[in-house]
Amino acid sequence: MIDFLNVSKTYANGTKALTDLSLHVDRGEFVFVVGSSGAGKSTFLKMIMREEVPSSGSIVVDGIELNKLKARKIPYYRRKLGIVFQDFRLIPNKTVYENVAFAMHVIGAKPKDVSRRVAYALSLVGLSTKAKMLPNELSGGEQQRVALARALVNHADIIVADEPTGNIDPEMSKNIVELLNQINLNSKTTIIMVTHEVDLAKSYGKRIITIQNGTVVSDTAHPEIIVDGNDDFVPETAPSGFYQAPTEDAEIESFLSSYGNESQAPEAQSASDGTSEASE
Ligand code: ADP
Repeated sequence: MIDFLNVSKTYANGTKALTDLSLHVDRGEFVFVVGSSGAGKSTFLKMIMREEVPSSGSIVVDGIELNKLKARKIPYYRRKLGIVFQDFRLIPNKTVYENVAFAMHVIGAKPKDVSRRVAYALSLVGLSTKAKMLPNELSGGEQQRVALARALVNHADIIVADEPTGNIDPEMSKNIVELLNQINLNSKTTIIMVTHEVDLAKSYGKRIITIQNGTVVSDTAHPEIIVDGNDDFVPETAPSGFYQAPTEDAEIESFLSSYGNESQAPEAQSASDGTSEASE
């Protein structure tokens, strides 16, 4: 499902974020990615989301070679992904229902499908009765469940979750991971979850990949990989955060629209080093 082959990433300012990182994730796997702050976890996720491209090496997701993906195809590619952020990234002035429905509107779904799917996604996360509420009327755990419903509503093949439990209390954290677990078991959705909570990750008996200094230093699916540097791994005491939280509704809507239709694709994809503009 996901293949990284000798992927390196050097940002424009010379920072080496990933070095010769190779890994394979099967369809339907649930993988935790852990590592200390600055290890390269967010860069790894941004590569899967095609927010960044490698400086060298290749990435293939579901048969699509991301290095060669044309800019106008990126929103279509991203429809495979359901994304969950540490800061929930809900639109404050839209109801729970509207927040989830928005993800379907940007891909041009039919109104009949929207009402059916949104109701289903909200029931999966146990929020049917809160559909008319606004995000700020919900607890952090509930807001993250709305974000999860939004990630699910378009039948994502892969859920990418960046510190989804970073802003919620421990009890709710378990609830979120349990929901991800159920989604993984019931629909065979591939789950990639970055977390600094190593104990939480360990308690699920799933595959754990440790990234350190931009490369994989251990992988429970491949016990033979134990690279120097793994001993240095210090779990983060505070999550590093993935993006700066957009503060304006328009910013969040614009971001979500980059997961929508060709016509709504932003002119320029994020490219910190100028290489992610695929040629036509
Ligand atoms: P993590 O998510 O594990 O904390 P990141 O992938 O965010 O790690 O960062 C890996 C390294 O790359 C760090 O040294 C970080 O400062 C650097 N980095 C991340 N994003 C950028 C960027 N856009 N430009 C320059 N350096 C960056």
